[in-house]
Amino acid sequence: MRCKSMVGMCRGTVREGSHCEIFEPIRESLLSWYDEHARDLPWRREGDPYRIWLSEVMLQQTQVETVIPYYARFLEAYPTLAALAAASEEDVLKLWEGLGYYARARRFLAAVQEVQARHGGQVPSDPGTFRSLSGVGPYTAAAVLSIAYGIRLAAVDGNVSRVVSRVFCLEGDPRKAPGKKGIRCRADDMLDPRGPGDFNQALMDLGASLCTPRNPSCGDCPLEPFCLAHKRGRIHAIPPRKRQKSRPLEEVTVAVVIRGKRCLVRKRPRGGLLGGLWEFATVIPGVLCAEQVSLGEQLGVLDHSFSHLRWRVSVYWSDIVGAPPQCPPWRWVTGAELVLLPFPAVYRPVIEAVRRRLDPGWSGPL
Ligand code: SF4
Repeated sequence: MRCKSMVGMCRGTVREGSHCEIFEPIRESLLSWYDEHARDLPWRREGDPYRIWLSEVMLQQTQVETVIPYYARFLEAYPTLAALAAASEEDVLKLWEGLGYYARARRFLAAVQEVQARHGGQVPSDPGTFRSLSGVGPYTAAAVLSIAYGIRLAAVDGNVSRVVSRVFCLEGDPRKAPGKKGIRCRADDMLDPRGPGDFNQALMDLGASLCTPRNPSCGDCPLEPFCLAHKRGRIHAIPPRKRQKSRPLEEVTVAVVIRGKRCLVRKRPRGGLLGGLWEFATVIPGVLCAEQVSLGEQLGVLDHSFSHLRWRVSVYWSDIVGAPPQCPPWRWVTGAELVLLPFPAVYRPVIEAVRRRLDPGWSGPL
């Protein structure tokens, strides 16, 4: 898709702000830089669309360094799309444990199962078909299809959006529709039709390594000769900074209940925060009321941050008052069963303590 306004500008004399004639030199400079400076990432050694897709899902909202070990472990367990399609959601969530944003794992599994069932296990190369799969948004579709199949789609993530805004000195807010549209137009026009996958990855790398949010390294940047924000002294104003919202603090009381050689746990509802993961008995109305539990010695206090919320979790050795729950979503598990269930990462020290109490001979680590 070409941006109409840019096509219009190209018909006239090229002036500052009209950039059609500079796309080719921009591509050349960026790709020569990428030849030398591309990050050596495990998924870049792959041609398998399933593996490229997995990397893009894991990289959403997550740093490259965090993703690398998870990516390796995941592929060890599920080396092919067919292997993953046959997996249970619980096993997949267990492998995802600690990576956060668990809904993306559930959606990825559902999408992979659909690809296996309806597309003979082949990741669709048609953008419309791929986009119709669970969890596949415009960025994921563009990144996966351009890299795996060479489809001409510009992948605009946060890094790319920042580079494009600066090169073309776009003052609009990239989080709002008009700003987004302007960036999308320039990104589509800039895209190298001969190698869209490499071009997208080059822009991602430039945004991650040189054109960083604060203090971009313009002196080392291959796009510096073309960059209007640099020329106009606007690099620190573009893109406009997001106002930091304060994240509310939620106090959570957790009751670790042990009877004999088993501990009481509960599966969280699929739809909400940390959906499908397990937790210890949590004292909140609708789950377990304060009257149903007798809190004992405190085991510890744990802090955990989500993107929109903070938790302060106070954990107690406890007991249930009256009849203990026996049916789903509750389960009484042994120490060995406990460590196989997917839990939010915040509970890792609690799991270790419970495992030690249930199996005094156990010496870990998990
Ligand atoms: S010159 Fe500076 S602001 Fe412009 S793209 Fe390069 S690093 Fe970013």
